[in-house]
Amino acid sequence: MKDFLELNNKTWELYEKAKKELKETFESIDEITEYNSAKVLNAFMKSRISETHFNSTTGYGYNDLGREAIEEVYATIFKAESALVRNQFISGSHALAKTLFGLLRPHDTLLSITGLPYDTLHEVIGIEENPSSLKSFGVQYAQIDLIENDFDYEKIEEYILNHPVKVIEIQRSRGYSTRKSLSIDKCEKVIHFIKERKPEIIIMVDNCYCEFVTKKEPIEIGADIVVGSLIKNLGGGITPNGGYVVGKKEYVELVAEALTLPGEGSEVGPTLGANRLFLQGIFFAPSVVSGALKTSILASYLLKELGYSVDPLPKEERVDIVETIQFGNSMDFISYCEGIQEGSPIDSFAKPIPTDMPGYTDKVIMAAGAFTQGSSIELSCDGPLREPYYAYQQGGLTYDTGKIGVLKAVNKIIERKEEQK
Ligand SMILES: *Cc1c(COP(=O)(O)O)cnc(C)c1O
Repeated sequence: MKDFLELNNKTWELYEKAKKELKETFESIDEITEYNSAKVLNAFMKSRISETHFNSTTGYGYNDLGREAIEEVYATIFKAESALVRNQFISGSHALAKTLFGLLRPHDTLLSITGLPYDTLHEVIGIEENPSSLKSFGVQYAQIDLIENDFDYEKIEEYILNHPVKVIEIQRSRGYSTRKSLSIDKCEKVIHFIKERKPEIIIMVDNCYCEFVTKKEPIEIGADIVVGSLIKNLGGGITPNGGYVVGKKEYVELVAEALTLPGEGSEVGPTLGANRLFLQGIFFAPSVVSGALKTSILASYLLKELGYSVDPLPKEERVDIVETIQFGNSMDFISYCEGIQEGSPIDSFAKPIPTDMPGYTDKVIMAAGAFTQGSSIELSCDGPLREPYYAYQQGGLTYDTGKIGVLKAVNKIIERKEEQK
């Protein structure tokens, strides 16, 4: 592999060391994968999935048996009353937006207790002006930042006891921030804290990037509604687009009414040939998440050895598939992204260039050579071009190919440094 990939000696030595050092960490991931694979297969058996479910509807999409079975499978996996799993959701951001519009009414308050929400939600909420935002409909927004990577219990208590809050949003993964992602245990504690004081508040969890990283999912710890993307973990790199919402039946139904139209809700929604791909995606998802996790862990190990600060650390317990790397300068960041691109199955010959992106404030560089446009369960590395140059790496459909991207990227940095000497 070394000659085949044209890796220099230093890269290869580091990789050999990583293989030995990371053995136990990888074994603990295999154990979680085994558990989650059983969870998925069990859901398929329970719903008696058969070839019939690969058929799909057009037009209104009434009585789509496959769609109904897929939603039942999701509900079983998440231990939820109900699920909405749709290709009519463009992406996770769209599913999050529809969930907020479904749950909130004029004069209601949305409270984020994990600081600033993900970039694409700023215009949805009205943190950034948009004539179609929740704010433009009179929905109030308040925010409580995390303190030392945990919830600010004092401020949360003060706020919910003195203001009427309809929905609390918890975003588990870090997005384009440098905070730590929030473990299931931390979320469980804060959800119980809120429910003891104000049981009527709806707890919504943005679960993007966290699915199948651990054994438990947020409904099991008391969340009311959970939202995520199908071009991330649960699509397994196979589902072509979409988002999911799982949770209490009455809330999921409100989201369905917002997604389609009042009166038709979840009854409509043609699947247009995608049912088999939705089923295959969730079937592969635990293994694909495992590949992505191992790819991130390898990157974490190698880049730490090269002196960069990385988060999480190689052997640290993980909440999501994302690895943050602080490059400190744009040259290393861009070189690394170029290497990731070179190691991708699609567009390996392309060079990633920083550009403006809808929904994001700074110029963003994105290295990704994916089968599905924008899919970040596939190996990708991106980030806004601003000090101190944090890169966010995630994905890798298989560890054996993900590692090649990482090795090529690390090799690029090592070679550039050697040339500079
Ligand atoms: C990626 C992400 C989203 C948006 O999902 P898309 O499918 O890319 O629209 C929302 N929240 C978090 C935390 C994310 O990481």
